[in-house]
Amino acid sequence: MVIKSVQLETVCGITSKLPDNILPEIAFAGKSNVGKSSLINGIMNRKSLARTSSQPGKTQTINFYNVNEVFYLVDLPGYGYAKANQEVKAQWGKMIERYLHSSKQLKAVFLLIDIRHDPSANDKQMYQWMRHYGFDPIIIATKLDKINRSQIQKQLKAIRVGLEAQKDTIIIPYSSLSKQGREEIYDLLDSILSE
Ligand code: GDP
Repeated sequence: MVIKSVQLETVCGITSKLPDNILPEIAFAGKSNVGKSSLINGIMNRKSLARTSSQPGKTQTINFYNVNEVFYLVDLPGYGYAKANQEVKAQWGKMIERYLHSSKQLKAVFLLIDIRHDPSANDKQMYQWMRHYGFDPIIIATKLDKINRSQIQKQLKAIRVGLEAQKDTIIIPYSSLSKQGREEIYDLLDSILSE
């Protein structure tokens, strides 16, 4: 995949109607701070297209990026921010579930998990929801550069076991510093879009 154009086309809040897109959609989910904005900026070759969420108050929105006029990259709200109030915490679930349930163009979902940590209760719930709605989530293990090479296989196994993932679930280690894993993600996007 070569990125020729990217445009943030639609931003949906909790009460917004979701767009009736014609192009296919591919969604990215993960808890806040997992590295989702960095990953999206990395694969889109932009420095600050997706907002990095160091700011706690970041609004919970679903953002639709039109890529190459070929598909939408859908940035789902980051969940599980520890200091978010209860109302905000309840919102992400509703929004993501509604989207997974109602999008007619959603072709694939990526779930991001920090390679250093075992999946959280929210991560597990997210994975289960995705499966419930008929998707086979592709896992991206983020922040690969933060662990030693010798730890990688052990951590990937911990993620697989923690999520109770299927045997054939794809897990791609990724670093937004070195961009390791990016080619694999491009290849997957190509194959999803050619199905
Ligand atoms: P988001 O909340 O999921 O969008 O996460 P961000 O992309 O904002 O990243 C959260 C923090 O982790 C930021 O300080 C990033 O610079 C850092 N970060 C994200 N990805 C990586 C990575 O692959 N390696 C390292 N070392 N830091 C990362």
